[in-house]
Amino acid sequence: MPLLEVRNLKVHFPVEQRLFGRAKEFVRAVDDVSFSIAPGETVGLVGESGCGKTTLGRAVIKLVEPTSGRIVFEGEDIALLSGSELRARRRRFQMIFQDPYGSLDPRQTVSDIIGEALDIHRLAADATARRQRIDTLLKDVGLDPSHASRLPHEFSGGQRQRIGIARALAVEPRLIVCDEPVSALDVSVQAQIINLLQDLQREHGIAYLFVAHDLAVVKHISRRILVMYLGRIVESGEAKELCRAPKHPYTQALLSAVPVVDPDAKRQRILLAGDVPSPIHPPGGCPFHPRCPVAEARCKTEVPPLRELGPGRHAACHLATSEP
Ligand code: SF4
Repeated sequence: MPLLEVRNLKVHFPVEQRLFGRAKEFVRAVDDVSFSIAPGETVGLVGESGCGKTTLGRAVIKLVEPTSGRIVFEGEDIALLSGSELRARRRRFQMIFQDPYGSLDPRQTVSDIIGEALDIHRLAADATARRQRIDTLLKDVGLDPSHASRLPHEFSGGQRQRIGIARALAVEPRLIVCDEPVSALDVSVQAQIINLLQDLQREHGIAYLFVAHDLAVVKHISRRILVMYLGRIVESGEAKELCRAPKHPYTQALLSAVPVVDPDAKRQRILLAGDVPSPIHPPGGCPFHPRCPVAEARCKTEVPPLRELGPGRHAACHLATSEP
């Protein structure tokens, strides 16, 4: 059974109110998205800024209210839960944020930050157990427990991200949504945080939804990848296979920007014209057609469905084939 199963999820935000308070237009941030995550699996979610990936990541753990669709977590549809019912389940799914500093209260010590998570879910029997648990969590993320009384500003960016990870780990989650967790860090620190996340996954069997704009990072950590464009999944598949032979022109363009390690390997950079169009007025037909280097006439009028091209492999492009 999947740990998380998302079916036909939509998140539409009203953008303009008119007389009698009725919304006239909507941002279709997430538009009919379905996918699943197995226990202990890492699924990468990639796309340019403005493609809806952060909203999707937040919606699956109910930090953003979905407009419609199902979010089945450990066999229970949490899409309709709220209040105390939702709070009781929150410890099973957590989030790590892009800006570790912005997500930590600057007036709280590290001990307070991690201890608060333990207190909310009553996970420490007494003060001694609480202290010991905080020490263990700090060691688990590579921080010195003797620094527990320090404030966030006394740590480096990478260390602050480790504090955020310790806070998420404190409640023993089954799923962590990692929202661009390394994009604000130096490259050398990025590798350390990625390695830490992988070690913790092996140790605790946590599943990750790893949201990032950088396909190089996503490719390294994920077993499967979802490529998102204008609120929809346009390609999905096993990470190695998707990166070896991308089927959708958008994935091909994203991949062409990833530096290759082999100096002899030649890869032509595909430059996409313009930015992601407005999700309020998405283009008709294939939403990618105004930027697609291989668009045909029918792409302007016919919406390409997300078709299965092989086991676990899907793409939403009229030209995509199952050929290797
Ligand atoms: Fe490009 Fe047409 Fe495929 Fe869309 S359907 S990605 S416009 S070729």
